Amino acid sequence: MPRMSLDLTFIGTGNAFAAGGLCWNGFVANERYLFEAPPTALMSLNRAGIDPNVVEAVVLSHHHGDHFLGLPFLLLHWKHRGRETPVTIVGPPETERLTREIGETVYPGLFESEFGIEWREVAAGDSATVGDLALEAVQVEHDDRLSLNLGYRARLDGIRFGYTGDTRRCEAVLDLARGAQVLVSECASRDTPIPVHMNLVDDIPEVHAAMASTSRLVLTHVTPEVETELPRTVVAKDYETYRF
Ligand SMILES: [Zn+2]
Repeated sequence: MPRMSLDLTFIGTGNAFAAGGLCWNGFVANERYLFEAPPTALMSLNRAGIDPNVVEAVVLSHHHGDHFLGLPFLLLHWKHRGRETPVTIVGPPETERLTREIGETVYPGLFESEFGIEWREVAAGDSATVGDLALEAVQVEHDDRLSLNLGYRARLDGIRFGYTGDTRRCEAVLDLARGAQVLVSECASRDTPIPVHMNLVDDIPEVHAAMASTSRLVLTHVTPEVETELPRTVVAKDYETYRF
């Protein structure tokens, strides 16, 4: 029998400024699907005891550096540390071009490898399936100068979960909240209004109110001051695993 549970292991929970020494935000679903590739991704996977070579997919929300610039290190590991199976990289348009440009610049020869990369660039409303992870991309409101800003509606082992990526509070986020059994939401500060982000005081109560009464909310992309007593809500901690 499949286990019908969702394990989310946070390889980092910090926002772009990594205040308090938090690692930049990212998490692994059921030890196989990595959401975001923050600069510390490889170090954090190693520290969390997750073999980077068993990561089947990397799912990117957008191309800000705290979400994306860890990919060259992952590719370096996969090239030199025995990866034999293909990896799928899911992300907004321009993901392949940017990764190749940056990766080849900082590690020449990075893409002369054997294991194979499947690039899956997605736009709003597109679906993608990798192994037993089903994804639907959702457009959120963050930085219009990037190619696209995505959140994801996902299903894994029978559990529906959502991930907001980085975004201001918008209808797409509330819609994600309504449909998810588990929602991983950015919460970039406690009460400081940060443009095109959500904060704990002004935004998260609205997101929480949109969720079903049995659903769970996980806050990430935080600062150390973010603490909450909202029911069925947890502020993710670096290297912790949460089972749903
Ligand atoms: Zn961002």
